[in-house]
Order: sequence, then structure tokens, then C-alpha cells
Amino acid sequence: MNTQLQNSHVNDDGSFQNCKEITTISDLAKQTIELSNRLATPPYPKCFEVLYTHLTNSNLPLSREIDTLISEQNVVSKEDMDKLHANFLDVNGNLDQVRNNTTEKLEKELNDIASIFETYANVNDSYCSTLKASVQEISKINSAGDLASKVSELVRENEKMRADTDELSTTLEKSKEQIHDLKRCLSAAIDDSMRDALTGLGNRRWLERDISYLLNDEEHAEDSHCFVLIDLDHFKNINDEFGHIVGDKVLKFFSKILVDNVKGKDICTRFGGEEFSVTLRNTNVHDAEKIMEVVREKLQSSKLILSSSKKPIGSITASFGITQIRRNETFEDLYNRADSNLYEAKRLGRNRIVSCSFFGD
Ligand code: GH3
Ligand code: MG
Ligand code: MG
Repeated sequence: MNTQLQNSHVNDDGSFQNCKEITTISDLAKQTIELSNRLATPPYPKCFEVLYTHLTNSNLPLSREIDTLISEQNVVSKEDMDKLHANFLDVNGNLDQVRNNTTEKLEKELNDIASIFETYANVNDSYCSTLKASVQEISKINSAGDLASKVSELVRENEKMRADTDELSTTLEKSKEQIHDLKRCLSAAIDDSMRDALTGLGNRRWLERDISYLLNDEEHAEDSHCFVLIDLDHFKNINDEFGHIVGDKVLKFFSKILVDNVKGKDICTRFGGEEFSVTLRNTNVHDAEKIMEVVREKLQSSKLILSSSKKPIGSITASFGITQIRRNETFEDLYNRADSNLYEAKRLGRNRIVSCSFFGD
């Protein structure tokens, strides 16, 4: 199914231009259904949400991914839509699920521990009662034989008490281990949910958390930080010529260059597709340019070859948009400023860095 759109708000390539003219939600919903029909996307709620958000132009990275998909294929599958939803909209979904599972398991462990203590208290009570009764009985004993048998009864009771306590301690120790495992699982899941699976760099969620911290850090308000958006040049050509697997390896290769050339506290993320970002802490625009120039040059001069045929992949380059982070601005404003510099770098011929300083734009 490839229905032609009748509405003038959506371009032929699926991108959306005149969002401001749309005044009612029902118009947008209608547009969404039309776009969904045109892309032959099944009418699942998640697909609707992705396309609806795209048409509101409120999630730039999402819209870019959709534009790329539409430029490559006429039909966008449910799987693609699910991925977009997971990456751009359901930012906390997986994490919430892990949290819920862990909370459930933790609750079970805590209940187990509570019942261990209850059993221990009961065992202890019963031992105390036996002791009390025995003391009274001993005071009435007047033969050595009776005394000996009472003492051995007490020793047996004591051994039973020790065995019960040992068993409870073992169960308690196991619960402690379980809780440690759960804690490890939870922090691994949190870490995973903040990472890009292909490159191991942080993902958009990590970036947003890191940036929001910097944007609101009143304590170090005088510090200067920079934000860089990077986009590999003509990356589609690499995929087209050598295939997606080689494309993926190039993405990993570039990630390594990035990580190797920034300091420990600087956060590198894969923002989407072939787009990356770096947050450079305590770095002014001039120094950020110098750092990114090293990255740009290293990528450009790397001579990658196909491991199978030894055929050279050719020069790979990237364009960079740098901007200084302004205290209390929104992430969207920051992103848009870096993105317009990146756009300018592309427009000027790619393989270059464009930056603006705090007062310069
Ligand atoms: P430009 O210089 O203007 O950025 O051109 P480009 O070809 O890099 O940009 P375009 O947006 O046209 O294409 C981006 C390509 O990135 C298309 C898409 O297939 C590819 N891509 C996105 N994500 C991945 C990925 O995870 N792996 C691989 N191999 N390719 C990807
Ligand atoms: Mg690109
Ligand atoms: Mg891109």
C-alpha cells in the first residue's frame, strides 16, 4: 500500500514542513494516519505515537531517523517503528521493567528474611521456656541419677537450638547473597540501559542525564563546558558500497577514536545512526576546537581496509558542530545550536569543524 498524501503539510519524502499551521490535534491525527498508510505501517499504537511525534516536529533526532528511513525505503516496518519507539520515546520503559522485576525479587527476599527472624524468635522462645521449666525442676531434684538425666535433656535441647540457629544463619547468608546479586543486576541493567549496544558509548538517555546535570549545576556556574555534535560524512555511501556490517565496524572504529582522545570525565555518546556527541567539561570553545581537530584528523588519515579482500575503504570523514553550554538553557536549545553549526560544517563542504562561542551567536 502506498497511498499518496493529499495534505499539503507533509512533503513527498514524508518530512513535515508547516507544523505551525496545524492548529488542532485531530488534524495531526489525520496526518498521522495518512502518513502511516503511505508508509504501509501497521496501525499499532506505538507506530501511531512515533509518527504523531514526528509530525509535531518536537523530537528532532527521531524525525531525522524517520527521514533517513523514508529516504531509503518506501515502507517502514513495525520492527523499525518499535526500534524508534524504544530509542526515542520509551526512554524509561526497559529500565522501569528491570526496576519492577528487581523490586519484586527484593520484596520476596525481604519477606524471606522477615520469616527467618520470626522462626528464630519462636525457636528462641521455646528454648527459653524449656530452660525456665528445667531450672524449676532441677531445684526439686534430690538424686544424682535424676540430675544427670535432666542435664543430658538440657544438652539435647541446646544442641537442637544450635542446629536450628545454624540453619537459619545459612538461610540468612543465602538471602544476603541474593540481595547482593540483585543489586549487581540492577546497576548492570541501569548501566546497559544508558549505553549504545553497538559501540558501548553512552546513549541519548545518558547524554540527557549528563547534560541536565551540567545545565543546572549552580555550584560550578562559572565553569565553561562545550557540547559537540558530530556526523559522519556520506556514511550512506559506505553502507551502500561495503554493506551494513562494514558500516557498523566503521561506527565502532570512530567511537574508539573519540573515546581515546577525550578526558575521563568527558561523555561521548552515540546519539543516533551515524551521529555522535561529546560533552567536554571545563573546556572553552578554543580548546574544544583543538581536541576535535585531533579527532577529525585521525579519522581522515586512517586507512581502513576490508579484512577479507584487503580492499581499501577509502577516506572517512566527519563534520563537527561545537557550542558552549549555557547555564539554565534547555537541552533542545543547546542541541539546536550545535546542530546548526554542524549543518553549517556540512554546507561548507564537510570534513570540518564549525563552532560558536557563548557571545558569538
Ligand atoms: P551526510 O554527509 O549529509 O551526513 O550524509 P550521510 O550519508 O552520512 O547521511 P544520511 O542521513 O543520508 O545517511 C545516514 C546513513 O547512516 C543511512 C543509514 O543507513 C546509516 N546508518 C544509520 N544507523 C546505522 C547503523 O547503526 N549501522 C550502519 N551500518 N549504518 C547506519
Ligand atoms: Mg552523515
Ligand atoms: Mg546523520
